[in-house]
Amino acid sequence: MSDRPFVVIGAGVGGLAVALRLAHRGAKVVVLEKTDQVGGRNREVTVGDAKFDGGPTLMMMLDPFRKLFTDVGEKLEDHLDIRLCDPSYRVFYRDGSRIEGTTNVAKMVDQINRLSGRKDALAYPKLLGDLADLYREAIPRFVERNYNHIGQFIGGKALPLVLRHRMLGNLAKGIGRYVEDPRLRMLFSFQTMYLGLSPYDAPWVYAVLTYMEYGEGIWYPMGGMVEIARSIERLATKKGAEFRLNTAVKKVEGRNVILESGEVIEAEAVICNADLPYAERELQSLPAKPKRRYSCSALMLYAEVDGEIDGLEHHNVFFGADFEGNLRQIFDEKRIPTDPAFYAAVSCKTDPERCKNSRSNLYLLIPAPNLDHSWTEAEENALIDGALKRLQDEVGFDPARILQRKTYRPKDWADDLNLDRGAAFGLSHDFWQSAYFRPSNRSKSNRNMVFVGASTQPGNGLPMVLISADLAERRLVDDGRLR
Ligand SMILES: Cc1cc2nc3c(=O)[nH]c(=O)nc-3n(C[C@H](O)[C@H](O)[C@H](O)COP(=O)(O)OP(=O)(O)OC[C@H]3O[C@@H](n4cnc5c(N)ncnc54)[C@H](O)[C@@H]3O)c2cc1C
Repeated sequence: MSDRPFVVIGAGVGGLAVALRLAHRGAKVVVLEKTDQVGGRNREVTVGDAKFDGGPTLMMMLDPFRKLFTDVGEKLEDHLDIRLCDPSYRVFYRDGSRIEGTTNVAKMVDQINRLSGRKDALAYPKLLGDLADLYREAIPRFVERNYNHIGQFIGGKALPLVLRHRMLGNLAKGIGRYVEDPRLRMLFSFQTMYLGLSPYDAPWVYAVLTYMEYGEGIWYPMGGMVEIARSIERLATKKGAEFRLNTAVKKVEGRNVILESGEVIEAEAVICNADLPYAERELQSLPAKPKRRYSCSALMLYAEVDGEIDGLEHHNVFFGADFEGNLRQIFDEKRIPTDPAFYAAVSCKTDPERCKNSRSNLYLLIPAPNLDHSWTEAEENALIDGALKRLQDEVGFDPARILQRKTYRPKDWADDLNLDRGAAFGLSHDFWQSAYFRPSNRSKSNRNMVFVGASTQPGNGLPMVLISADLAERRLVDDGRLR
């Protein structure tokens, strides 16, 4: 093996996982990260005596997590203390009704029966069963693979599979074939928002996300989601990988990685975890691709709160009166939603160690337009105030109990983490940017470079970027760069 290092640009979860995989193979690995901590979108935020998950809060689809650890001779449970969140979350509807998501089928049937009646309740096990089949067949066939040509996407048994599961049908309509109550339709379709994608625009295949939640459950690693990143970093370091924080890369030219400081590192291969549209434009100086479509953004509030917050679970989802209209405003009209759905987390309910001195950590995520909309500070403040007012109305939370707060805006995702247009979930996941059609992990303009992370194949979300690290490693092996 040559003495040149494999250079990983970015210490997001995808970059960390690939660094661990390469270090385990005995390769010399250097990870260059522009910020002062590992994790990327999955970093930790601290406000006063409260610690927060910066972005992701839901650990779902454990298989790719387990696979990363077993592939490097380790066991997930030896590195992460994971707990099932049950209920997964509490849902608040505008009409005052509530439901709690859970993997317990009998409990779901009972709650659905009370919410909307027998017909929808009886349909639930059938929905879950069909989603389980979809999940089992779609993930290995379309997700866990490197594509070299379109035949691998449409050939073989792909077409019968697509037709049998109506994979390309509309997701929101598909859910409507099982349950009638509009509240349940929202409940079983909103999960595409984890990809920054409206369920009204999503193909049915993304209903696998609903299965992940209701079939396998939502998990939480004690110490916070950032422990996923830190545990991978610790293992990679133990296996010899070198991490350089506060080290921004300016350009990649052939094998040469040029740092903002002027230093040049000659790489055996470059594995780029900086988000792909930004990396192609800024690091590789390629022309921007105006036809690319981007996910929505997320307006965040991290608030250190005095005392406990009653009435909320660890995870909570609030729907506005018109979910479809809400998403149309964000995705089509690109304007500020008038009655937005949003998500609230209080992770210290599961993990009291995250707060000291009787504080609570209130995290709000409001899906919102990306920077295609010209945001004003007044709009940001109004959205956050609106969400706090809703908490006050629903659970009696008094915003005056907030001791310190930090907001994180669409522009911050762009400036801090180099996410083009502040699209917090990277490139969007419509059909033409999914599976084979999503940008390949093989750089078209630099044969020394591969991509890993949310905007390359297979896509966004921690399980997907872990799979992308596996695929990047396989690509390097197949291309003869790794043994
Ligand atoms: C608000 C929010 C909530 C989410 N919720 C969930 C959830 O609950 N569950 C889930 O599974 N997923 C969730 N996701 C998605 C998940 O966070 C992402 O898919 C995943 O973290 C992306 O990882 P990545 O490997 O693509 O890298 P990123 O996290 O994008 O990291 C890339 C790294 O590259 C660095 N970098 C960029 N440019 C340079 C440069 N020039 N030089 C050096 N370093 C550079 C950045 O600083 C960053 O650290 C959420 C995302 C967001 C934004």
